[in-house]
Amino acid sequence: MENIATKVKITKASSSKLSSVDFSNLTFGKVFTDHMMVCDYKDGSWQTPEIVPYGPLQMYPSAKVFHYGQAVFEGMKAYKDDEDKVWLFRPEQNFERINKSSKRLAIPEFPKGHFFNGLEELLKLDKEWIQKGFGNSMYLRPFVIATEPGVSASTSSEYKFMILCSPAQSYYSGEVRVKVSEDYSRAADGGVGFAKAAGNYGAQFFPTDIANSEGYQQIIWTDANTHEYLEEAGTMNLFFRIGDKLVTAPISDRILDGVTRKSIIDLAKDANIDVEIRRIKVAELIEAANAGELKEIFGSGTATVVTPILGFGYKGEKYELPKIEDSYAKSFKDQLLKIQYNQAEDKFGWRY
Ligand code: PMP
Repeated sequence: MENIATKVKITKASSSKLSSVDFSNLTFGKVFTDHMMVCDYKDGSWQTPEIVPYGPLQMYPSAKVFHYGQAVFEGMKAYKDDEDKVWLFRPEQNFERINKSSKRLAIPEFPKGHFFNGLEELLKLDKEWIQKGFGNSMYLRPFVIATEPGVSASTSSEYKFMILCSPAQSYYSGEVRVKVSEDYSRAADGGVGFAKAAGNYGAQFFPTDIANSEGYQQIIWTDANTHEYLEEAGTMNLFFRIGDKLVTAPISDRILDGVTRKSIIDLAKDANIDVEIRRIKVAELIEAANAGELKEIFGSGTATVVTPILGFGYKGEKYELPKIEDSYAKSFKDQLLKIQYNQAEDKFGWRY
């Protein structure tokens, strides 16, 4: 990959917190490594990226991010193989996507050299925090916030780009049953659903809490106009296996272009599985479930790679999926993990 040289200013932490961390008992996203990357945008350009000790920020309470939510983020992971080499999975996709998100939120795009050189220096400094072993990883959280002080509702002239690193354990997502949304919406045509805009996530908490209280772990969002079409889940794209066909909704204004989704589509096509990228109606799902044709539903995303969905609820009815032997979900998860951990041939060139 092309890598424009960018210098990165490094200030090391005076001591490491590493020995105080219980890696056998990590809560996702709670523990952060010794360092973080910071890069400020001011006077019309991105300044020198810096690596500094992880710690609190000083900002004015009038900073625009607090008032207008001008903020975008990414989620990616670093993996360590048996020989202690550190790998990223398709990071150029996350780089491109954060800039796509930024553009929609009127945030200046971040330079590629700053992103990759900053990330590499950060990983070199904190690589001891990445545990070996299938499923263990380091979750990376790049994000950008509007920092200009002043509460006028207009584009900020100052921003902060940052990357945080959080060690993550192999985790089992638990039994996941989903509620098909009948009234709340996540995204609208012409809106920001395709972007990883902070507000997309904050707005999901309330309907998701309601679904949780009804015994569902997540929501399958339906289109805002009719609520007839299945879109995606909170942090996952969705696949439906009807017979031996794999169906997934097309990317649109409203749906995030997931890196795991597009990788699964490639793997499926490579295995000669019939993949249909088209809109899918709730009615079709229910019909397939009633006819015994609905074999699997699974979500795809960086956090758990593939999450099998055991059942769903719609208009007060509950549907359970069958237990099957030759699960696509399991097969895609195995294949992706092996590529991510450098245990299988990387025929698509996804490892970095
Ligand atoms: N949809 C949404 C809304 C998400 O936030 C995510 C997580 N980034 C995904 C899908 C899955 O995307 P990816 O495979 O790139 O993690």
